[in-house]
Amino acid sequence: MPKRRGKPDGKDNEPKTGINRRVVLGGLSSIVASAFSGPTLAKALPDGDQQSRAAGTRIRKIATEEAFTIPEVAEAVRDVVRHGGTNLDLKVLSLIYDASPRTLLSRLLSLDATRISEMDANGVDMHVLSLAIPGVQMFETDKAVALARLSNDRLSEAMRSHPKRFAGLATFAPQDTRAAVLEMERAINTLKLNGFLVNSHTENVYLDASRCWPILEAAEALGAPLYLHPRAPSDGMAAPFRDYSMDGAIWGYAVEASTHALRLMLSGVLDRFPRLRIVLSHMGEALPFWLSRLDLVAAPGSRPALKNKLKPSEYIQRNFAITTSGVQDPQALRFCIDKIGLDRIMWAIDYPFQPTATAVKFIESATLSDQERAQVAFQNAERIFRIPK
Ligand code: MN
Repeated sequence: MPKRRGKPDGKDNEPKTGINRRVVLGGLSSIVASAFSGPTLAKALPDGDQQSRAAGTRIRKIATEEAFTIPEVAEAVRDVVRHGGTNLDLKVLSLIYDASPRTLLSRLLSLDATRISEMDANGVDMHVLSLAIPGVQMFETDKAVALARLSNDRLSEAMRSHPKRFAGLATFAPQDTRAAVLEMERAINTLKLNGFLVNSHTENVYLDASRCWPILEAAEALGAPLYLHPRAPSDGMAAPFRDYSMDGAIWGYAVEASTHALRLMLSGVLDRFPRLRIVLSHMGEALPFWLSRLDLVAAPGSRPALKNKLKPSEYIQRNFAITTSGVQDPQALRFCIDKIGLDRIMWAIDYPFQPTATAVKFIESATLSDQERAQVAFQNAERIFRIPK
């Protein structure tokens, strides 16, 4: 069992308003009590004077899906790209890591002046950093384990150099479950990182597979959220996505990541790890829009193959949060607030793949009450990722 993070005085380091891992579960109502719930569960609706806010009004902003890389990982990804193959991620990875000029790559590599000046120019207070797609998940196992450690070390150095500007999500190598769990413990207990990020499947294996359960168990026990970031569809469903650039952000990412999230729900692993917290990108990868239909057709016990004990909407309300990365649509945001709850939505840019200015304008000008805007822009991130105020 992974050690739980504690304060030096030995008391549990639980935020006053966040998840209480010591809660004794009993009865359905407490089982569906949210691991993400904050102090304000009321859905504050826009009212009168609070509704409008001129673009550019200053508000604290924590961006929660912001990519970086380190030279050693970039070189290893280039090796993967040049080796070639049929993996559907290779097209995008070649553009990021092997293109010329390497504009994206130079911004991914910056963990100081370049990045911070772009944040300053747009009024962004903090990046929650994570190792860029594909993480270490396409490397041979030993290399993946070593580069995960190195990447987490560099991330922790950047956070120590700029504690007010950077938080960070650890990477790990799902190829080696035992090493992954050790690195997850080190990342939280020693490096003081804020959670984990995994880029969907690894070698076509999804996290509901029993051999991945120790990873889910560790994330739950450490009380740290697991950000389930997309990658291109796995080999078994890749073919129709090969045309028209559908492999990545256009559609493939959403299909891959939402499929992964549904596997976690319908396999019953979230009943095995009821306090596991998962964060989805891109306004929930369309899942919020599907909940009514999913509850109808995937109700517990309604089909022989279903293993879920709760309805999909109940897992969303208990185990999931979402971010707004790459979706600058105020109507989609309003829908998600009303459908899944204000306290589980966090603002994100998706730096450097999406422009910072557009994401900033979106959160500063969307029709929201002041309370709603504050929760989405920074308060939920502070609570969920345990970022000091
Ligand atoms: Mn991203």
